[in-house]
Order: sequence, then structure tokens, then C-alpha cells
Amino acid sequence: MRKIKICLDAGHSGSKYNQSPVVKSYYESAMAWALHLKLEKKLEARGFEVFTTRPTIDAEVDVYARGKLAKGCDLFLSLHSNACGTESVDYPVVYRAYDNQNSANELALGFARMIGQRMGTKQAGRSATRKNSTGGEYYGVMRGARAAGVPLYLLVEHSFHTNTAAAKWLLEDRNLELLAEAEADTLAAYFKQTAAPVPEEERTTIMDAAQTTAQQMALYCRRRNAAPKLTSCSVEELAGMFLEEGAAEGVRGDIAWAQSLHETGFFKFGGIVQPGQNNFAGIGALNGNGKGQAASFPDPRTGVRAQIQHLKAYASTEPLAKACVDPRFSLVARGSAPYVEWLGAADNPGRTGWAVPGKGYGACVLDILAEVMAQEVPEPPAEEKDKPKYPAYQTEGLERLTEAGIIDSPEVWKARFGDTVTVGQMFGILGKLLARAESPAD
Ligand SMILES: [Zn+2]
Repeated sequence: MRKIKICLDAGHSGSKYNQSPVVKSYYESAMAWALHLKLEKKLEARGFEVFTTRPTIDAEVDVYARGKLAKGCDLFLSLHSNACGTESVDYPVVYRAYDNQNSANELALGFARMIGQRMGTKQAGRSATRKNSTGGEYYGVMRGARAAGVPLYLLVEHSFHTNTAAAKWLLEDRNLELLAEAEADTLAAYFKQTAAPVPEEERTTIMDAAQTTAQQMALYCRRRNAAPKLTSCSVEELAGMFLEEGAAEGVRGDIAWAQSLHETGFFKFGGIVQPGQNNFAGIGALNGNGKGQAASFPDPRTGVRAQIQHLKAYASTEPLAKACVDPRFSLVARGSAPYVEWLGAADNPGRTGWAVPGKGYGACVLDILAEVMAQEVPEPPAEEKDKPKYPAYQTEGLERLTEAGIIDSPEVWKARFGDTVTVGQMFGILGKLLARAESPAD
């Protein structure tokens, strides 16, 4: 797929240009520079090709020339904060082409409203146009971008730095981080609607070995949501189950994980499915259903297994390795979506898929998958590295219990070898042993 090209312009040169009169440590030029670097990274992570107009914070390039640098780009974005004489004025405004070329207002207004919501401005975000005395664009950067033939160009005012709350908000690095994330998401959603189909050699096959570790999967999830709403296991244990159940059926467990993060909002839930249902990808949750009107599973592992099986139904025509626990398995046209890109029915040549209509569904899952794969795992502290070796009778015991099927998640237990066992866990293991002793079927 051709990459969408975006040119980012940090409003003004220097680190101390346009000081806020109400929050003295705030400078528009410093904010715009920091924000455009963050946005560059976030956009690149979402598959955009990104250009910037100035090499350093102090480099001076004429406004018109900066707009012209966007030649060949799909979008030019100039980042600013506004100023006026009235302290109480507090709203983002996005300037777009005066003649609304390429329906620029759709993106401009959506962008402005999103920023207003993120910043919590007093007045809602709005879009605007501004002409000069000869009827052309008033702003030099926009005039330059228009002259270069850039189809979409916007000048974004992140509210007014003459307002105390807005200037204080923009001073926080963490807020700029969240803002860049939200702006990148908005642009990704906007451009996906017009994205060309992905050619076969670039598609992501669902039936394959996972390419991430459980640790990466869990760390990334916690980065996006520090308090996942899981009712009966940890996010680390759940990640392990995705890899195990995926491997058992030949499905990429990391793809299923990315799908679950997308479906549950990083396990915040809040949609049709409730956290206690152990349904991590909305199986049986149809548009228009009320809260809880979706499949429920007795425990996390069964929910994960059902999701893996449901993915296998779409991705392959092979039989299941384990007994079917997916209540909707038989409803799927087997093998109709071997690629993640085809999971949304609107993106699938057969017009079927996991999500209906699901335009861009697969791309959303892949965006998350790419970030999980890029998740760095911190080096364990020194004492962790040479942690105690456990005696053979203990490690061999775990191996035997795993082989016998008494222990389902050896990785989870291995990681907790030195931990205390609860009474419940002990009875669970002993109960399984007893059941096996009483009926040694296999
Ligand atoms: Zn400015």
C-alpha cells in the first residue's frame, strides 16, 4: 500500500517565541516543536510517511517556503496555539482551505472538536477560514501548501495561550503525549477510509506462529491501561493463555491479543460485553444488543479458547485441535478471512468477516499488533538475572504435571516458582490429581 505522506510544521522558530502573558513559562514555539516531534513518532508508528519543515528548533524558514515543502504530501499540518486579548476565550480552531477543497472541513472540524475534548476547553473546537486582501489564503504556510498542490492543508490552533487553563495544560509533557496520540489516531481513522486494499504479499496471515512474548503483550496492555478490568486472572496470565491456546490451534495468539485489546479498549470494557463474561473479543455481541447480551464463558481460558477457535474458523479450513467451545463456530464461512486485513466484512472481497460492516477493523488490530511487537521489555534487575535455581525434584514435578495435563499454564507457574501457594491452588492441583487417579482414561 502506498504510504500516506504528512508534512508537519512546528509553528514558530526558537524556544522562546510567543510567551503566554498569563503562564510565564509557556512559549508557543516550544510547545509546537515538542508536539510535532511526538506526533511524528506516533504517525510513523501508524504507517504514515512523515516530513517536517525545519531541522532544528532554532532554524528559520520563511512561512510560504515551509508550506511549499509539503509538495507531494497528502496533508500539511501547521501546529500552533492562539492568542487574543480576552482571558476567558478557550477553544481550538483549525483553519482550512477557504474554498473547502477536498471537503477539508470534515477533517478540520473533527480535528478541532477532538482537541477541544482532549484539552477540556471551555468552548468547543471549531473550524474557520481566513482570506487575505487579494482573496488568497491569509496564512503564508497555507498559501505555500496550496501553491504546491497539497490536497489538504490545515493550521491548527491548540486553543489560546492567553487562557490560563489552556496554557497550563499545554505545558505538561504528558498532556502533549496524549494529544499527539489522539491526533495520530484521528488522522489514521480519517485516511483509512480512503486507503487502497493491501496487496497479498503485504497482508498478515492469521494462521502462523506468534511473534511476541507474553511479557511484551502484558507490558503494552498496562502501558495503555494501568488497571485492566479482569475479574479472575492477571493480564500477564491472560497473555500467556493467548499464546498457549493460539499455539494449540496454529493461530497467532498475538494477533488475537491485539484484537482483544481493540475490542475491549485495553480491558476497560464499557460496551455490550461485561468484564465477568470472559468474552474478550465480543463473540455474539451484535450491534444494537444491550449490556451483557453476548456469549459468556466459565473462565478466562475458555473465553480465550473460544476466540482462538473463532479466528481459526475464519482463517482456515482445518479442523480444530481441541473440543469446540465457540458457540458461533458453525456460523462462520470457513476460511473466508485468512488475513487480518480481511476481518472487517467491508474490507473482505467476500463481504464477510468477524466485524460487520467493519471498515478498517483489520487495520486497527494491526496498528495495535505493531505496537505490541515494538514493545520493549526492560532488563531485569541484577538479582533477577541470577535468581535461584530450583531443585530438580521441583522442576521435574512441574514437567510431569504439565505432561499429564494437570497443569495448564506451565509458564505462569515457572515464573512464580518461589511464590507461596494458596490453599485454593493446592486443593485445585490435588483435586485434579485425584480425578486423574480415579479415572486414568488416557
Ligand atoms: Zn502561531
